[in-house]
Amino acid sequence: MDVESIAAEAVRITRELIRFDTSNHGHDHPGQDTQAAGYVIDLLRGVGLEPQVFEPDPGRVSVIVRISGADHQRDGLVLHGHLDVVPAVAQEWTHDPFSGEIHDGQIWGRGAVDMKSMDAMILANLLHIAREKIVPPRDIVFAFFADEEQGGTWGAAWCVENHPELFAGCTEAISEVGGYSITLPTRDGNGSRRAYLLQTAERGFAWARLRATGRPGHGSLPNNANAIVRLAEAITRINDHEWDREFVASVDALFSGIHRITGIDAHTDLPTVLDMMPGARSFVEGSLRDTVNLTRLDAGFKNNVVPAEAMAHIDCRFLPGHRDAMMRTVRELAGEHVEVIVDQQVDPLDSPRQVPLVAAMAEAIAAEDPGAELLPYCLSASTDNKHLARLGIAGYGFAPLQLPPDLAFAELFHGIDERVPVTAVEFGTRVLHRLLSIC
Ligand SMILES: [Zn+2]
Repeated sequence: MDVESIAAEAVRITRELIRFDTSNHGHDHPGQDTQAAGYVIDLLRGVGLEPQVFEPDPGRVSVIVRISGADHQRDGLVLHGHLDVVPAVAQEWTHDPFSGEIHDGQIWGRGAVDMKSMDAMILANLLHIAREKIVPPRDIVFAFFADEEQGGTWGAAWCVENHPELFAGCTEAISEVGGYSITLPTRDGNGSRRAYLLQTAERGFAWARLRATGRPGHGSLPNNANAIVRLAEAITRINDHEWDREFVASVDALFSGIHRITGIDAHTDLPTVLDMMPGARSFVEGSLRDTVNLTRLDAGFKNNVVPAEAMAHIDCRFLPGHRDAMMRTVRELAGEHVEVIVDQQVDPLDSPRQVPLVAAMAEAIAAEDPGAELLPYCLSASTDNKHLARLGIAGYGFAPLQLPPDLAFAELFHGIDERVPVTAVEFGTRVLHRLLSIC
């Protein structure tokens, strides 16, 4: 099968995966992955593979298969995607989010970038490997996880916790939210060059509750210890806090690459550098400091009753090395009447950048897009790589997509009118095809 046919198959699979509504509505609702996982299982069985299937929670299904490599002395690689998506409200969209339609050369639908196109690029290459009985350079574990959009509890985290043997011998992993292109003006002022952003680091997160307590009572009586007011004051203090900007190592490496290409130094002219990357801007801005966002609020039950407590949920994101200092600051800002309860906390990632796998990615990109460069960056958000990291696996975000310069790529993630150019999926499939023969 030639590489163009593999690319065409990836486009078809992307569209078919989008048509399964695998919306993850959270753990109060059952998962919706059964049909999509069944589709993947059928594809794999169709080429003679026998995947392992795990469904620890109803409707949350992960599918995993290992392909044996030529060199058993070498450590294995995990290539993984998630099958679930965040929900979409059809009325808000230009085209039905679960139709996988092609308009204007783009595949539309929830999961087009996050991350059914990458699932499809991986699958098309895996089907090819199985059909042609190709032996990759080393063991590759292909995994399609459930539940990534709710923190991976019943997907990657569960598999790592309960079946670490699936990943035995693996030391590196490749997945989403990296590998896409930005187009930079060159320093001579009359040209441009594409750079692909390889995600080598991720901020960590803590999902926490602020629990304010006070004096409950009748709504008609004076009350200077109102839990809701205390909560509101804590929220205001946290929200108004200015977190220090710091260029951590992966961010600094990105900016020095941009400096080399464009002649503009982010240390002295950050706004211009950010303006040069509209597609990646919000991802990169999110990697410049720690952040906190208020995401949920829960207080009171009746108009004439002051409640004894009030609760807010916050989403704290911290750069590599910042966890303890950040959470200490959040507790200080919360103040004496507001307890900070951390419900879920995951550490940041910072994977090595000077390794053969990264060199192979750069080689695969350069072969498919001559003159283009691979630059590292730190993702402001999180991927399933964080769970694999508990097994000592260094994770990278490399879902290669060649994008038009003006596409607001970061905004498509969890956004309305999520879509991906057909040519980008074809390009990414070719890059992965190359990478899998030299990884
Ligand atoms: Zn994703």
